[in-house]
Amino acid sequence: MSESEVLIGFGSNLGDRSHSINRALQALFRLAETSLLKLSSLYETAPVGYLEQGAFLNGVVQLKTTLSASQLLTTLLAIEKSLGRERLQRWGPRTVDLDILFFADRVINEADLLVPHPEIVRRLFVLEPLCEIVPDLVHPVNGETVADLLNKHQMSNPLEEPCRMVSAPLDIAQSKEKADDGIFYRYSESG
Ligand code: ATP
Ligand code: CA
Ligand code: CA
Repeated sequence: MSESEVLIGFGSNLGDRSHSINRALQALFRLAETSLLKLSSLYETAPVGYLEQGAFLNGVVQLKTTLSASQLLTTLLAIEKSLGRERLQRWGPRTVDLDILFFADRVINEADLLVPHPEIVRRLFVLEPLCEIVPDLVHPVNGETVADLLNKHQMSNPLEEPCRMVSAPLDIAQSKEKADDGIFYRYSESG
């Protein structure tokens, strides 16, 4: 069975944000077909798109999986749903959002799945955590590394509010047992 390395972006801006993210990561980690390779720090970012909503916690995780891209998408949508996500409004508040950023070096243009995620290059809250864990990853469409993409983005958006690192990941030590307590980040809403 072929294995692929994939990057998933996660975010939450509703309810107990870090709790939802911890539960989403635990669900990903527990998938039989999947193992966790690298986890970024947790970042806090102002909302984009629809601005009248709370700040986001964001990060990215690198997984190894035997799932296909469409199976992975179905799985991510099911995890979002199990954590109470309701789609009321595009880019509106959400308990958890899980996006496929990269799926190996594949380029996918299907009605329900675009990979690499088309917004990567425009989103600091994706580029920053990506650059933390896979700076040398090459974007299969434009041929640039994640580090170059972040650099370019910052040069052309000098006034953009930075995203703030709020928690390093706990030492998850790649062991299923250890991660079974489901805590990847310790972050309290009250600071
Ligand atoms: P954005 O995709 O701009 O970040 P969003 O995450 O808020 O917006 P959602 O409402 O979560 O958008 O997703 C809408 C649909 O996007 C999903 O049902 C899925 O079919 C589709 N989609 C397309 N490409 C991807 C991808 N790479 N990862 C996840 N979903 C995707
Ligand atoms: Ca998204
Ligand atoms: Ca999404």
